[in-house]
Amino acid sequence: MKLRIPGPTPVPASVLAQMSRPMINHRGPEFAALIAEITEALKRCYRTRSDVLTLTASGTGALEAGVVNFLSPGDRVLGITIGFFGDRIADIAESYGAIVHRLAAEPGNAIDPNAVRDALRRAPDTRAVLVTHNESSTGVTNPLAEIARMVRETDALVIVDAVSSLAGIDVRTDEWGLDVVATASQKAWAAPPGLAMVSVSERAWAAQRIARMPRYYWDLAAAKSWLTRGQTQATPAISIYFALAEALHVLEQEGLDQAIARHTRLGQRARAGACSLGLELLADPSVASNTVTAIRVPVGIDGNAIVSGVRDRFGIELAGGQGSLAGKVFRVGHLGWVTDGDIDEALSAIRDVLAGLGHRLPTTARN
Ligand SMILES: *Cc1c(COP(=O)(O)O)cnc(C)c1O
Repeated sequence: MKLRIPGPTPVPASVLAQMSRPMINHRGPEFAALIAEITEALKRCYRTRSDVLTLTASGTGALEAGVVNFLSPGDRVLGITIGFFGDRIADIAESYGAIVHRLAAEPGNAIDPNAVRDALRRAPDTRAVLVTHNESSTGVTNPLAEIARMVRETDALVIVDAVSSLAGIDVRTDEWGLDVVATASQKAWAAPPGLAMVSVSERAWAAQRIARMPRYYWDLAAAKSWLTRGQTQATPAISIYFALAEALHVLEQEGLDQAIARHTRLGQRARAGACSLGLELLADPSVASNTVTAIRVPVGIDGNAIVSGVRDRFGIELAGGQGSLAGKVFRVGHLGWVTDGDIDEALSAIRDVLAGLGHRLPTTARN
């Protein structure tokens, strides 16, 4: 199956091969060298001098760690939500007792940084702003640098879900003043699922020391202290560490800037190709994502039939709509180990399946 979904993504063969290596002692020198190497490479990709910690978890684990370490029950939080994943991190904060005020946008739109500034002026006691950098459910990238600039005018922490952006869309952790940034191995890193990463700024560590939300597996101060010994507190997913180390080699060989440029090209190609089939994009073009494209299901066509037709006839996996967008959009993931040809192949499969379902293609797209 060819994965054109927003994670897991295709993985280079050299990365997959690492998954069959024999296990090692996670309390021995070999693992210490491995986690040190990975941590340094991750810092380069995050463009940070702060700590980056790896957790055996999916991205949601990193989001949970990003909340429970830095907040106390009763804290006021601004949850910027432009879709399904913005709601997820807001829900996590609420589950642990934060008072979350949601600042939402219509699906397909980003948040206006000025609205963030206004919301913070109305609520000067806000302790943190939760923001999704790239909203995978709608294919929209929030203007993170500008949003962070508004938050930095206050004392609130900037806690970022960069799960589907980092390594594919530029994230400048230190330059933009991001306090906590979460991501996961199965997204643009082009590794298998199983590891999550989270960065922690000095400001965030200061908040961590007084934050009272309960935490044990997600305690990042413990993770940092174990990392100084070249270990993790609990048994890590050793095979994924092997794979991620190789994925980071592949990424550094391509070059981070080149990988980001490739994702920019893939995003443009996916959007232009969808439009040439007479399809409408969900995202406002000025904020459209370069790692995932959400396409509106044409009127009178069954969205599930598009996804299953492309799977059954072409062996290509697309994603359906999530939450309130179920049945209304389908999504093409173009992050990780993906080429221009992969996008063209997916678009041509979509064209054939749509034609079979009675969608009228523009004359220029018939052949
Ligand atoms: C995939 C994704 C997540 C969730 O990651 P899991 O690894 O499935 O827990 C969170 N946020 C965004 C933006 C994502 O794309």
